[in-house]
Amino acid sequence: MFERICLVHYHELGLKGRNRSSFEHRLLLNMEAALVQFHIKELARISGHLLVVLENEDDVEPVARILMQVPGVARVSRGWRCARKPEEYYRCAELAMLDCGPFETFKVVARRSNTDYPIDSMQLNQLVGAHLCAFAPDKKVKMKDPDVKVHVEIIQGSAYVFSRSVRAIGGLPVGTAGKVVSLMSGGIDSPVATWKLMKRGAVVVGVHFSGRPQTDDASEYIVDDIACALAPAGGIGRVYTVAFGDYQKIIASECPPNLRIVLYRRLMFRVAERIAKLERAKALVTGESLGQVASQTLDNIAAVNSVVSLPVLRPLIGSDKLEIIDLAKHIGTFEISSRPADDCCTLFMPRSPETHARVADCERAEEGLPIEQWIDEIIVNLEWKDYPCPSYKKPKARRMGKCAHHTASDSETSHTHDMSSERSEDVHPSTLHGRSKTQAETPETD
Ligand code: ATP
Ligand code: MG
Repeated sequence: MFERICLVHYHELGLKGRNRSSFEHRLLLNMEAALVQFHIKELARISGHLLVVLENEDDVEPVARILMQVPGVARVSRGWRCARKPEEYYRCAELAMLDCGPFETFKVVARRSNTDYPIDSMQLNQLVGAHLCAFAPDKKVKMKDPDVKVHVEIIQGSAYVFSRSVRAIGGLPVGTAGKVVSLMSGGIDSPVATWKLMKRGAVVVGVHFSGRPQTDDASEYIVDDIACALAPAGGIGRVYTVAFGDYQKIIASECPPNLRIVLYRRLMFRVAERIAKLERAKALVTGESLGQVASQTLDNIAAVNSVVSLPVLRPLIGSDKLEIIDLAKHIGTFEISSRPADDCCTLFMPRSPETHARVADCERAEEGLPIEQWIDEIIVNLEWKDYPCPSYKKPKARRMGKCAHHTASDSETSHTHDMSSERSEDVHPSTLHGRSKTQAETPETD
């Protein structure tokens, strides 16, 4: 019997001792969560690979596409598992050859992991090679850089055969690098910055500052769609939404116009840091790129940074806009980010924003503002939605107890949303947490 499989390959560099097994274990859990909508017969570790055996052979393409987005997966090969009998793996090798479209040259790459199998790797290469030469006499064997490599691996009691192998996202499994809070505007850059941190193994908690009630809530739907687009990677646990418009209005009416944007950002950073403390996250993340806009000069970055003590990670700081756009297209967020919505930062936009803000001037401008009181108020009124992320540990109820807005009547799981259900157009993303349960268990952090 031939079974359809995906074999997942990961980089083994730097994975030693106990590190390696916890890495593999985490990756297996993340793959399992990413594939929750498919019927998976078996998910296991075999000889340096992770194996996915499918119940339904038509699932091989969509399953491979999803696995390619899971951080820690370096390559995905589509193939077959069969008994370690020559007639079976010969037939699978034929199928593997037929599976890879037009080509001219090929070679067989055979490997025997178990010495209890009487045919060794060299003989296996020759036998399968001779069979395929007879099966496809018009194809040429080429040892160096062939168009196609047909892999046959004897591992424990089975043979694994594949030819189509594609590069995947790479990086490290989500959950191996701690938690960060990412400022997600709904623009082009911040989803890419968020993705880069997920790719390096961090669990991301997003925070979005909406212009509501001074604008509509279009940007919140955009951020929700971005989080859903990034969800297969399993790295976003929760997105908080802050209705920020009224605070901006006060800043705009009471502070020097040229400093507005820097002052909005200073308030955003303070709120994000408070959320990071609630979440026990260890860094903030932004999509800033040096000099891209007025607020992203070195002076303004320093003026904003000075209000927080957590590290602020800026994975795009040295990237050009075009490079960022290419990545945004690659990860599927570009079109979503390009949808029109009022950005809260364009609210009450000054004619000439300061490009060299000084910390002392910002502090003077904030003197009359009840900043701490605002932050407390914002935290109490936080709204949020959860996404399937097996590594996300949500804050304990008693920590979130400060957010009276949500804990007074809701149960611990009631803030979560089932990602498999279609979003109904008339329900606001940040209220979905009250409607259904998430698929993935999200244990609590203390
Ligand atoms: P983006 O495309 O990510 O919006 P941008 O080029 O528009 O970035 P800015 O608007 O200056 O640049 O924002 C810089 C960073 O500040 C963003 O990448 C994001 O991390 C954060 N940020 C800006 N506005 C918001 C917002 N409304 N909510 C959350 N984070 C924000
Ligand atoms: Mg923006």
